[in-house]
Amino acid sequence: MTCREEDINYQVDRFADIQILKYQVPGFENLSLKQKKLIYYLSQAALCGRDILFDQNYRHNLLVRYVIENIYLHYRGDRKTSEFQHFEVYLKQVWFCNGIHHHYSGDKIIPEFDRPFFTQLLNNTIWKNFPDGFDNLKQLEEFLLPVLFDPDFDGKRSIQTEGMDLIANSANNYYEGLTQDEVEKFYASLKKTEDNSPVSHGLNSKLVKENDFIFERGWKLDGMYSKAIEKIVYWLNEALPYTETLLQAEAIKKLMDYYKTGDLKLFDEYNILWLKDTDAAVDFINGFIETYGDPMGLKGSWEAIVNFTNFVSTKRAETLSQNAQWFEKNSPINARFKKENVMGVTARVINVVQLGGDCYPATPVGINLPNADWIRHDYGSKSVTIENIAHAYFQSALNNGFIEEFAWSEEEVVLFKKYGFLADNLHTDLHECVGHGSGKLLEGISTNVLKNYYSPLEEAKADLFALYFMMDDYLHKIGLITTHETAISHYNSYIRNGLITQLARIKPGKNIEQAHMRARQLIASWCYEKGKNDNVIEKMAENNKTFIRINDHKKLRKLFGKLLAKIQRIKSEGDFQAAKNLIERYALKVDKKLHTEILSRFNKLNLAPYTGFVNPVLKPVYSNGIISEIKLEYTTDYSQQMLDYSMKYSYLPFRN
Ligand code: ZN
Repeated sequence: MTCREEDINYQVDRFADIQILKYQVPGFENLSLKQKKLIYYLSQAALCGRDILFDQNYRHNLLVRYVIENIYLHYRGDRKTSEFQHFEVYLKQVWFCNGIHHHYSGDKIIPEFDRPFFTQLLNNTIWKNFPDGFDNLKQLEEFLLPVLFDPDFDGKRSIQTEGMDLIANSANNYYEGLTQDEVEKFYASLKKTEDNSPVSHGLNSKLVKENDFIFERGWKLDGMYSKAIEKIVYWLNEALPYTETLLQAEAIKKLMDYYKTGDLKLFDEYNILWLKDTDAAVDFINGFIETYGDPMGLKGSWEAIVNFTNFVSTKRAETLSQNAQWFEKNSPINARFKKENVMGVTARVINVVQLGGDCYPATPVGINLPNADWIRHDYGSKSVTIENIAHAYFQSALNNGFIEEFAWSEEEVVLFKKYGFLADNLHTDLHECVGHGSGKLLEGISTNVLKNYYSPLEEAKADLFALYFMMDDYLHKIGLITTHETAISHYNSYIRNGLITQLARIKPGKNIEQAHMRARQLIASWCYEKGKNDNVIEKMAENNKTFIRINDHKKLRKLFGKLLAKIQRIKSEGDFQAAKNLIERYALKVDKKLHTEILSRFNKLNLAPYTGFVNPVLKPVYSNGIISEIKLEYTTDYSQQMLDYSMKYSYLPFRN
């Protein structure tokens, strides 16, 4: 084992299959006091719904969290034993997953300590406030043992298995006393009478059957979760005086009305206002949004994010987008397939300041909302990439040994550390803002004819576009790069990933299925083969390990251009046979021996498969009773942050 001191900068905790990072918020200090206040109040609103998510995930989560936190704080026994350490890991997992089921698989997390130890913990803990609804420890213990330890008792948060009753077998708290059939009928009857702007029925309520009567319990003021929603509304109201635009103020008012009434029409109106507001730098998400946790895809889990525009990076995306026509004109594809008028798209780049609910501690790196199809169709959507989260990922990856293990030379490592983050961002922007939009189909051709080969080819096209132009002097001219070393580093990483490192994400014995991964392997292995005579890409072996070395980056760029032209022709002409040949030959198959080698090298690094984040802490500074500054401090203590949140933002009873 090596001591990796640099890790301290970004990784703040590591347990089970999880690492916790902190993220930084560059640019916060440059915001005005008014903007900082807006962020502060919205952040408070973002923290107040934490209990809602715990309860949505499972009806006993809040009780479990209270009990194990109380043990953690007031246990009088020995804390040095391995059993107690297992207990501590379990608590950290429950915090991470916002409940007792794994955040990704949905399976119940079975503690590494046993039942007798749990009994001992209960009996040796001081209970100032004994949980409501229980008379004594014995009763509490009998109730909790199956909840914590029995894998078949509410064992799966959300059943997705075809053929099973998805509702009756799921442990989440979105439905009660119902079968899948009853739920389907209930919502089908609501949908019948609607025009072309239907609301998202079921998004903000629990559906319950009692005495043969089926009804919704709304998540709203004076409804279910009222105590937490009251606080959210309070802080949204506090934020109002500091909004940056009229639209933003309108949007917040509408959101408050929606929380008060539960009226889904108001939620749609709010979303439209929120969409239209593109001038404010500070932005937020707060509500019942994503429906992944419900096997029926109806119920929105509560989530929140507060963020502000990263102007430097947004400018970069805009610059590329504004130059879309230049890229099209100078693209190495046949003139017949070029668009006369090409429009770039711009995604805003943001930095988050606060993550809450279902976005915390595990969080997305990009968001595209709202979800309602009719709004997306009539009004479009807001798409953002979260740069400071991506940066934290990149920083932590610098020090986890991965690049050292797989890069051919020290020089490659140095280049990667220097230019890797910029190169990744540029690649994403070129891919998204101009790459996908480039090229046209010949008249009468539909992409459907390429069937399942369409997606990997489309991704390969956008990737090749990014790779090809990354080394173009034009990027220099429009001020996006200062040196070709950015492209050189990126070519190294891309080919290394396409030929070897991405295999670490494939299960033994499997081939490559995911479209982006197929695209990468297609590009890397095609260029490897076509450049063989000139020795453009070389496979190296040292100590039974495989490495990739690029001998000529300029020639590699030419190959990228050639393949881009080829793929554009296939798409434009709808040449199914050529698409099939290309994908089948280069994109799918995995070399078993190489795969085994990569997996074993990867496993030795012992990297955490899942990542979460601690939030920075926002502190108002008062002078003469009014806020004169909002200070942003970084914490490195995951457990302390969770305990703080439980202490300050627990508004709900154990049973809702
Ligand atoms: Zn894409």
